[in-house]
Amino acid sequence: MADDGIDNALLSANVLLVGGGHAHVAVLADWIARGVPQGARGVLLTPERTLRYSGMVPGWLAGQHGPDEWLVDLAALAARAGVRFVADRCTALDPVARVVTTAGGHRIAFAAASFDTGGSGRGAALLGAPDPRLVEVRPIAAFATRIAAMPPSARVVVAGGGAGGVEIAFGLRNRAGAAPPPEVRLATGASGLLPGFAPAVRRRVQAALARQQIAVIPEDARFVDGVLVAGGVPLEPVDLVIAATGSAAPDWVRASGLACDPAGFIAVDAHQRSLSHPHIFAAGDVAARSDRPLGRSGVHAVKAGPVLAANLRRALAGQTPRRSYQPRRHSLYLLNTGDGRAIASYGPLVAEGRWVLALKHRIDKGWIATYARLARQ
Ligand SMILES: Cc1cc2nc3c(=O)[nH]c(=O)nc-3n(C[C@H](O)[C@H](O)[C@H](O)COP(=O)(O)OP(=O)(O)OC[C@H]3O[C@@H](n4cnc5c(N)ncnc54)[C@H](O)[C@@H]3O)c2cc1C
Repeated sequence: MADDGIDNALLSANVLLVGGGHAHVAVLADWIARGVPQGARGVLLTPERTLRYSGMVPGWLAGQHGPDEWLVDLAALAARAGVRFVADRCTALDPVARVVTTAGGHRIAFAAASFDTGGSGRGAALLGAPDPRLVEVRPIAAFATRIAAMPPSARVVVAGGGAGGVEIAFGLRNRAGAAPPPEVRLATGASGLLPGFAPAVRRRVQAALARQQIAVIPEDARFVDGVLVAGGVPLEPVDLVIAATGSAAPDWVRASGLACDPAGFIAVDAHQRSLSHPHIFAAGDVAARSDRPLGRSGVHAVKAGPVLAANLRRALAGQTPRRSYQPRRHSLYLLNTGDGRAIASYGPLVAEGRWVLALKHRIDKGWIATYARLARQ
């Protein structure tokens, strides 16, 4: 059933999954275990045959994981679930006519659809100008391709002081096979290092950055007349500027007429269902819960997956979705420092060491292994 393209102009699906993201793999797992709900015709529309597990990006950068060890085989999961795999991307959605248009110019009609496409990079918008040295961390597949081609001892500025930016800085500084290691600076932006994290976590991370000679610049980085500056000070020479500056909503969401939050993400209720169009569901970074604020993080996308699967199943049976993902008060973050150690953050608590990295690897590899097993069966 795997398919790299669409051979007819209008493909139809009873249930269409758009985006092979961290939540939709749980939906595919549910369908593998229990069948597609109501025996419906399912389609998975996503541009890449694999999903890159975001939690393992820093480990891959630091050479702790091989190039294939952090991939989930979406095409194989779709085949196992009996779902047609279409390698293309959604560029427009008409939720009333119930049609998605793809970059390849095809149209897919659906009765119900679920969106888990992640967000887009916003580095170009925030840093002020297009520049060939700018690399967005989203989509992760394109980021991985750019980094794989990076000269070993490049001079890098990472823009963004959140967990993603911090881990990328550590990963690049410890880039496998790079001698001397890349020169890495971290421009955190005016909101500083790890906003929202406990002061004890920030202190640990700051110490690890200093130990590894990663300079922290507590200013917004911007291109001005082709020169990268932060706080009025030029940061040149720079070979690569990595924008880890958070997610923007894809343009097609607002254009679709779906109810959105003010930033343009799909507004969903506690059951991941669109506020405006009940036959549409969304999860992960592209969705915005209206009942509670939820950060854009892979943990939430992963945990929302089984809930989304259950709610889709009920909706397709004509029943009211019931389940709701309620995150714990604190999330566990395991920040890979690239040097064989990691820093754990759980609310006000902090811990650091090799055992933290071992724990992170165990959790991450366990997640990947679950889907590898399902894909192989
Ligand atoms: C470098 C980095 C490290 C991170 N580390 C962590 C971490 O350790 N822990 C954590 O919790 N979070 C982490 N995050 C955040 C995490 O990556 C995101 O929150 C998470 O990936 C969101 O999952 P998602 O399912 O919404 O989207 P994604 O994982 O981005 O998946 C989206 C899928 O949809 C596909 N797609 C995209 N556009 C379209 C389209 N138009 N049509 C069809 N398909 C489309 C993509 O190809 C992809 O398969 C990290 C982020 C980055 C950038």
